[in-house]
Amino acid sequence: MVKVKDELMRVKPYTPGKPVDEVKRELGLEKVIKLASNENPFGPSPKALNSLKNSLLEVNRYPDGGCYHLKKKLSIRLGVDEEELIFGNGSDELIVLALRALTDKGDEVVTAKPTFLIYHIASTVSGLKVKAVPMKNFRYDLKRMAEEVTDDTRIVFIANPDNPTGTYVSRREVEGFLHEIPEHVVVFFDEAYFEYACGGDYPDTLRYHDRGNIITSRTFSKIYGLAGLRIGYAVSSKEIIDLMNRVREPFNVNSLAQSAALAALDDEEFVKMVREKTDQGKRLLYSELDKIGVRYIQSATNFVLIEIGEKAEAVYESLLRQGVIVREMSPWGLKGYIRVTVGTEYENRIFLSTIRKALGLK
Ligand code: PMP
Repeated sequence: MVKVKDELMRVKPYTPGKPVDEVKRELGLEKVIKLASNENPFGPSPKALNSLKNSLLEVNRYPDGGCYHLKKKLSIRLGVDEEELIFGNGSDELIVLALRALTDKGDEVVTAKPTFLIYHIASTVSGLKVKAVPMKNFRYDLKRMAEEVTDDTRIVFIANPDNPTGTYVSRREVEGFLHEIPEHVVVFFDEAYFEYACGGDYPDTLRYHDRGNIITSRTFSKIYGLAGLRIGYAVSSKEIIDLMNRVREPFNVNSLAQSAALAALDDEEFVKMVREKTDQGKRLLYSELDKIGVRYIQSATNFVLIEIGEKAEAVYESLLRQGVIVREMSPWGLKGYIRVTVGTEYENRIFLSTIRKALGLK
């Protein structure tokens, strides 16, 4: 028998949203729509696709692990030094790299509950103690999280906006929180949904980087529509980026992802269109859910957490049988809830008519 690390026995593998093909196969359906993984339903940007075509001919070569061109472009755009940037195989990998670089077995991390499940899984696998502070009204309770920080805390993970609630913590809350956090603790702002949320009192966390203990991560998987290529980036101090580079695989970001991301950054029209259509879609979902008296949490992202109550699992199954994949939220400790990604207008309308049926309404 192989010897098993104790930590591994304490984690459940992450279960992603069901793939469309699997549901078609299992339920014998011809048409299935997936609103389960907060993907961009408007496709990759046309500019990214075009760039990919040209890069295909070079996949016989290893990629540039340093992501030279992307680093140059983003450093100018974000106003940070190139040495303050690192790229990952999705922003998922940046979470793992931060843990590998900055923590030792027995250290602590602080995060919220419910939040992005990978913080818990990856920290547990690293042998860390996870302090998960319950949310208050579906929002991060930064005051209580600051109180949980001890000498053994190494990283505080903040998904801003959060997945699965879609809420965010404001500039004022973040500034108050940072004031309480000692320098030995790294605050990891996971901004996977940044481009949907920015503006208003949503904080620009890059402004706090002179503190030296901040990581801000973002991704090309969401508004840029490149989830399948796996690419995200993080900004931090030169010292932290240097440590993360020491634990990074040399070719962690493939060349197609780099090529598409570079072009996607220039497709501002596409980003604007996705943001507008997502906002329209959310407004449609809200108003139709209001009409049927179903409660939801106002979201700053491209998904909405919906309260169904006792019938949530049955509603999830019924949606599935009708060819609509959403997420049933008990793995997050949110029994009674489902999470739906905002789709195209067509997909949103299908979702709304199937949920009416699932709830026994006309
Ligand atoms: N952070 C949050 C909060 C997310 O919701 C997701 C994607 N579901 C990620 C990080 C990871 O995204 P990716 O690895 O595709 O960049």
